[in-house]
Amino acid sequence: MVEGADPIIEAFRQEVREWVQANFPPDLKGLGNPITLEERPAPTEEQTEWRKVVGEKGWGTPTWPAAYGGADLSSGQARIIQQEFARARAYNPIGGMGVMMFGPTLLEYGTEQQKLEHLRPICRGEVQWCQGYSEPGAGSDLASLQTRCEDNGDHYLINGQKIWTSGAQWADWCFCLVRTDTTKKHEGISFVLFTMHQPGVEVRPIKLIAGSSPFCETFLTNVRAEKKDLVGPLNAGWTIGKRLLQHERSSISSMGNALGGSAALPDLAKAYVGVDAQGQLADSDLRTRIVSNEMDGRAFQQTAMRAMAEAKGKTDPSAATSIMKNAGTRWIQDRSELTLEIMGHQGLGWAGEDFTSVELDAVRGWLGGKASTIYGGSQEVQNNIISKRILGLPDLTAAN
Ligand SMILES: Cc1cc2nc3c(=O)[nH]c(=O)nc-3n(C[C@H](O)[C@H](O)[C@H](O)COP(=O)(O)OP(=O)(O)OC[C@H]3O[C@@H](n4cnc5c(N)ncnc54)[C@H](O)[C@@H]3O)c2cc1C
Repeated sequence: MVEGADPIIEAFRQEVREWVQANFPPDLKGLGNPITLEERPAPTEEQTEWRKVVGEKGWGTPTWPAAYGGADLSSGQARIIQQEFARARAYNPIGGMGVMMFGPTLLEYGTEQQKLEHLRPICRGEVQWCQGYSEPGAGSDLASLQTRCEDNGDHYLINGQKIWTSGAQWADWCFCLVRTDTTKKHEGISFVLFTMHQPGVEVRPIKLIAGSSPFCETFLTNVRAEKKDLVGPLNAGWTIGKRLLQHERSSISSMGNALGGSAALPDLAKAYVGVDAQGQLADSDLRTRIVSNEMDGRAFQQTAMRAMAEAKGKTDPSAATSIMKNAGTRWIQDRSELTLEIMGHQGLGWAGEDFTSVELDAVRGWLGGKASTIYGGSQEVQNNIISKRILGLPDLTAAN
């Protein structure tokens, strides 16, 4: 045990370490969670088993209440699980929008019955959720959404079109913002849940510049939502929908943290660009820009850690998630740009044996990363939120 370490925490670390050793299949070392892969090959038996054991333990969603499938652990203990998984090169097999956005929102706004019904399958990785927010005429100005939801006796009927619905082609359920009152804008919106496995739901995947189709147009024709699946009161969905976006931005910015620990730009640059007689990177201008990016990354990570410490384990996000989203996504984009520049011609490949898999991934990562300053609310929209909600500047826009 490290001198000065808390014995209770260290005992927990030991417990996690032994459990991971006993349960994590070594064949899966270094692999990612298959549900976040855009191509979604069918999971292997080992992947399925790993998902099952982590889900049963509640360690994929460790801070959620045990009554709903979590493990009732503190954020400190959750961090230990994360560290021990990373140490064993194991991935967290529980994830997706249910974990990142919908679950935390339902914990805050859902009824007891809704929590009991919907959270446990998320904790066990048995159900995938998608987000029905954006529409062809409602992106940044989300409150302009027109998808209608009408009372049809013992259930609701939904008609309209959503767009950019990530993972809709694989999703089991959708959390959706719908219009339930056409006479008001923000106060005419409700937050409902419906199963994607019904005849009125039609999804058409859209191809992205990075080559894959991670999101869809989603057409809704007489789609049925049960009355019990209205979250919060009728016409009060805007507040809930905005809260969910804070959780989304918080999880997007945490991607910056995860990436910061793994990528090693200086080593990459030395390998591709070469070193001078002192063993330093030969291109001094590139050296300066890499150092600057490294410093931005450290500053971002330290700020994230400080915010976490100041929150004293409270995990609720706030408007400050907009700052972290902008800082984290811009940093990742800058890093991707630098990576391609370092690789030179090798950073221009799309396919073929002339390029290594690292080079091909770098190109796709650079292209795919362009979207990170758009989804979850564009960079400009985050700047508006920061101006209004954090800096208290005058409200000159109607959006968000
Ligand atoms: C990869 C990806 C995945 C996505 N996944 C989902 C999903 O699962 N579910 C879902 O519902 N949506 C999803 N989206 C949609 C995303 O939330 C919207 O693209 C985003 O909110 C912007 O809306 P828009 O595309 O309609 O652009 P617009 O709102 O038309 O904006 C166009 C441009 O105008 C700027 N702009 C607009 N309003 C203002 C303003 N008031 N002030 C300053 N500038 C402004 C924007 O910043 C942007 O640059 C996804 C998007 C991407 C790229």
